[in-house]
Amino acid sequence: MSDDLIAQAITGYWGGRCADTDPDCPCCQAWLAYDRQAAERDRLRDALEEIADMFITNIRDDPQDVKIIARTALGKS
Ligand SMILES: [Zn+2]
Repeated sequence: MSDDLIAQAITGYWGGRCADTDPDCPCCQAWLAYDRQAAERDRLRDALEEIADMFITNIRDDPQDVKIIARTALGKS
């Protein structure tokens, strides 16, 4: 499901974002979850782009190197 469809579903069920964020408000909680998911998606996209750049600029032969590159880009090293 694309982010737009998720945003449409949240808007349809809970409504648009509240003017002020209230952690006890179900609508705000839905949008905060959406924002966390979007941030994680962006972080993973950036990591994948970093991995792709590393492969393009520095082709590796050792599978262990691939694992190290991926873990480094994902911030898990
Ligand atoms: Zn709210």
